[in-house]
Amino acid sequence: MNLLVTGGCGFIGSNFIRQLLTTKESPLRKLVNLDRLTYAGNPSNLTGIAGDTRYVFAHGDISDSALVVSLLRTHQIGAIVHLAAESHVDRSIDSPEPFIQTNVVGTLHLLDAAGHFWRELEEAAQRQFRFLHISTDEVYGDIGAGPPATEQSPFAPNSPYAASKAAGDHLVRSYNKTYGLPTLTLNCSNNFGPFQFPEKLIPLVILNALENKPIPVYGDGQQVRDWIYVEDHVRAIGMVLARGQVGGTYNVGGGNETTNLDVVQRICALLDAKVPRPDGKSYSAQIAFVADRPGHDRRYVINCSKLQRELGWAPKESFETGLAKTVDWYLDNRAWCDEITAKKYARERLGKPPTLP
Ligand code: NAD
Repeated sequence: MNLLVTGGCGFIGSNFIRQLLTTKESPLRKLVNLDRLTYAGNPSNLTGIAGDTRYVFAHGDISDSALVVSLLRTHQIGAIVHLAAESHVDRSIDSPEPFIQTNVVGTLHLLDAAGHFWRELEEAAQRQFRFLHISTDEVYGDIGAGPPATEQSPFAPNSPYAASKAAGDHLVRSYNKTYGLPTLTLNCSNNFGPFQFPEKLIPLVILNALENKPIPVYGDGQQVRDWIYVEDHVRAIGMVLARGQVGGTYNVGGGNETTNLDVVQRICALLDAKVPRPDGKSYSAQIAFVADRPGHDRRYVINCSKLQRELGWAPKESFETGLAKTVDWYLDNRAWCDEITAKKYARERLGKPPTLP
């Protein structure tokens, strides 16, 4: 199998590539990583992998159909795992357009290029080809007090990010139904773990705590998310790619329904035990409630019984063990964090509520 991964220098993509290339029984012959290296793309997320002879890096945009077709032909790709995206809700509030450009138009161009190449293949290779699109549980919108979202739940995206991902999901589905392209979609809940860009809640809290800065909690902090350790997610990606039902969608989540405030307090407790503050107080003294995110959904929780039943997937990491590993990783990798803080993002507030004219 030769694989094209898009967005492989990002958080989930780099964890996926690392897991694939370090698994002994991996059937992989070649892995091509197409990444535009936006602010979120970081080649040092893949340090240690770059020397693997199966690994090829291609710097480019998923919207560049000519480049994508040429990569597919040159490397005789058998499957695409599409992770490239603009991924941060707050940035989509400040500036929706790049989200439409990459998550909608980019996904469309990638599908077109894949379809073009796929039609050139022999029948047997066409049957084996896969286009796996990685999406989010945010497409289902705020589920309130209702049951966890299933694959049949209606889409109701509420942020420009979620709307752009929902549009991408619909395009992927349409390329299967209309053109027969063998597509699959995985809708995942909130990931956490090593190499996550510090704009996202968990690394932001860890780093602000350690630097004695306010730890911002949006609104009342009672928004509920279902957290999944990134290694459990990337294992699900491998399983759906290998054995998922073509044309289908699969939900994946860690089964860890937690409020944002609870996540923050757990991180503070872990840091209190690992690196106590010099004044002996808890890091939770740094918690600062700030204006809520506009349109902030109260609750996302996902039902992933289809993935468990059909493919035998189950998370290996509990929220407690995954969070402890994550805190340790950020403590051990301060140089990685410092470089981002110095060059890309100094952890300023993004996605501010719009001010009146
Ligand atoms: P990320 O922001 O960390 O990484 C995105 C990567 O895509 C970066 O390497 C970036 O350089 C690359 N990229 C962006 N635009 C590109 C373009 N036009 N062409 C080529 N490369 C481009 O994102 P992530 O958190 O790793 O998320 C990966 C995927 O998983 C996204 O599709 C996201 O919507 C989805 N997802 C993420 C989560 C989560 O909690 N992080 C949850 C569910 C689904």
